[in-house]
Amino acid sequence: MEKGPLHAGARRDPAMRPNRPIIGRAKCSPTGPLGLYLHWPYCTTKCGYCDFYSVPQGDADLSRTARALCQELSLRLAGAGPQVRTVFFGGGTPTTMAAPLLAEVLAAIHEAVTSDAPVEFTVEANPATVDAAKAQVLRDCGVDRISLGAQSFHHAELAFLERLHDPAVIPVAVRVLRDGGIANINLDLIFGVPGQTLASWRESLLRALALGPQHLACYGLTYEPNTALTQRLRQGAITPCDDGFEAEQYALAIEVLAEAGFEHYEISNFALPGRRCAHNLIYWHNAPYLAVGPSASGFTGTERYKNIAQHGEYVRRVEAGEDPAADHEEVGRATVALETLMMGMRLVEGFDLAEFAGRTGYDLRILAAERLASMQTQGLAEIRGETLVLTRRGLLLADGIIAELAMALDERPGLALPVVRTSRPAKGQ
Ligand code: SF4
Repeated sequence: MEKGPLHAGARRDPAMRPNRPIIGRAKCSPTGPLGLYLHWPYCTTKCGYCDFYSVPQGDADLSRTARALCQELSLRLAGAGPQVRTVFFGGGTPTTMAAPLLAEVLAAIHEAVTSDAPVEFTVEANPATVDAAKAQVLRDCGVDRISLGAQSFHHAELAFLERLHDPAVIPVAVRVLRDGGIANINLDLIFGVPGQTLASWRESLLRALALGPQHLACYGLTYEPNTALTQRLRQGAITPCDDGFEAEQYALAIEVLAEAGFEHYEISNFALPGRRCAHNLIYWHNAPYLAVGPSASGFTGTERYKNIAQHGEYVRRVEAGEDPAADHEEVGRATVALETLMMGMRLVEGFDLAEFAGRTGYDLRILAAERLASMQTQGLAEIRGETLVLTRRGLLLADGIIAELAMALDERPGLALPVVRTSRPAKGQ
């Protein structure tokens, strides 16, 4: 690709000198792979259920935001340190950019990580925002995996979710991407949508499978604070699905996708053999990742930072040579252990208790001996060798199980436990 003005390796503007060291590659733990998450803050419109930081692009200066994103990327990757093994460009919807701008941003990212030889480069896309020109750009810039927000194959469900696309657009988008040379495709699907039936959910699963994806992510709809959907719920305009029905839908997904040869490897994620999402595995192993863009948060292994979640102020800070991070914290040993447990327990293959004890110093085999015994008695979990494995029933109740084990780690009152289970994954946010 031609290198555009956004090229991350370009000589840095003297104004970009930060007034304090920005957290970057050099601060990341050298053990294990390093992930890179980039957050594009714009979408065409805002979906009612979405709590990711994204705003309708309207008349925002996209080129200026893109330039800031690439400048921050350049800063965070400067210096020696572990190599970037996975790249995930999400948001927001990066593919709302017109092809020429998308090409410039992707070329800059590609150039910045080429010498690291990443094993996976994913871009999130909405079906309605993909065309042949963009597919070509994606491919030319080294993108080898697309995560497509299909969500449902039913008009009424997509309308409820305030998604812009028509179900008929999904197969078109998949074909365009394949024709453009991108073979590795994930489809996101949502269950627990009011009005959805078991039959309509099965049909969405089957229609998704018919498109030959390599990966499927099935999330339960959640009512997050400060979303338009939750507002409607509070006003009594929505009757949410009950937990029992969602459990049936979840069980159906596990059954249908297993029959189709998909490995259920994480609470919400299913992959053909060899097609697990390497980037999200970095999160689930609580390994280091750098994050770039408004609202994105990164983790070095001992420190976390979170960029300001306001696109205008983000651009201003980067252009002024200021650190775009609004929050920064040293992560203590207990917190690292807690987060490692909460993320690692999402993996269906199980949680290695011995490895966890060696890494964190907390031995759940001792600290949570009674709880573990009770979980086994109730048929929620099994211990195979040193690995704690949730049963099918345990997966359905994963939230509670993880919270209970977390209590054994740290009984401090008021400890904030992130929501887990089938909600959408953290995206470096
Ligand atoms: S759900 Fe996706 S497309 Fe909808 S507003 Fe959120 S980030 Fe944008």
